[in-house]
Amino acid sequence: MGEVIYGKPVADKITETVKKDVEELKNRGIVPKLAIVRVGAKPDDLAYERGALKRCEKVGIEPQVVELPEDISQDDFIKELHKLNDDEMVHGILVFRPLPKHLDESVIKYEIAPEKDVDCFSPVNEGKLYEGDDSGFSPCTPVAVMEILKHYDVKLKGADVTVIGASNVVGKPVALLLLNEAATPTICHIDTKDTAKASRNADILVAACGVPRLVKENFVKDSAVVIDVGINLDENGKLCGDVDFDNVKEKASKITPVPKGVGSVTTSILARHVVKACKMQTEKLAEALV
Ligand code: NAD
Repeated sequence: MGEVIYGKPVADKITETVKKDVEELKNRGIVPKLAIVRVGAKPDDLAYERGALKRCEKVGIEPQVVELPEDISQDDFIKELHKLNDDEMVHGILVFRPLPKHLDESVIKYEIAPEKDVDCFSPVNEGKLYEGDDSGFSPCTPVAVMEILKHYDVKLKGADVTVIGASNVVGKPVALLLLNEAATPTICHIDTKDTAKASRNADILVAACGVPRLVKENFVKDSAVVIDVGINLDENGKLCGDVDFDNVKEKASKITPVPKGVGSVTTSILARHVVKACKMQTEKLAEALV
């Protein structure tokens, strides 16, 4: 049976470092602040918001929840975003996505200040991710996957990795981050001819497709490392991942559970990004004053 690798030790380590960084900033009179922009009250958003607020409290980041009405117009939404861009007390902005259909993300993503965009909404940060430029912000969940792999000493250089899922928020960025670490990623999606076959080749398998327990034993090579990003409800309303954990764990060398896996690490990355944004903005301000 494979080792179950939990997110908590990874999150705790990151949280400790962030906490120290926040203390240092506060000693200089700077309070890092995160604005969370939520349209409406979707249960998924509210659940993530609760986790983010808890993490902010733990590390000393000041949060501000900007709750906007479900029917807000695109112009008004952009005005709210610009207010946060211009607010010098706000260092990080997290916009919950997907936005309601009438708000055009392909337009709005150009309106968030890239230096405050802590979850990689802006095309500037997407471009930096593509280039492997560390001065930007990669999306928090894919970074959480990378931190878990590094924490548990999984060799990335030269590893064959299959990522199931090709969304802009998880699948594609995680594949790019892996490529930037010299792994060899294959990306599968809904139209892939044989996802099980592509998965069986992988030393590391990352499941991020949003299909409850899609990944069965026949998707997994003996002793592969399996990372489950999925957060789903099964037919009985029970929380589960994209991996059939009970069966796959017999074959994998290491496997993340759901819950207590990737999801536990995401908000610690968010907090780290807020501190990074805060440091970059205050340094820029200091340079401008010299
Ligand atoms: P999405 O719906 O935007 O994208 C799903 C991707 O999976 C698409 O590329 C689709 O083509 C592919 N796919 C769907 N069915 C497939 C199949 N049968 N075979 C192969 N590929 C298939 O989803 P997303 O936003 O990328 O999220 C994926 C999962 O990760 C969801 O369960 C979501 O809840 C979860 N998630 C978790 C976190 C976290 O912090 N742990 C954060 C974001 C998303």
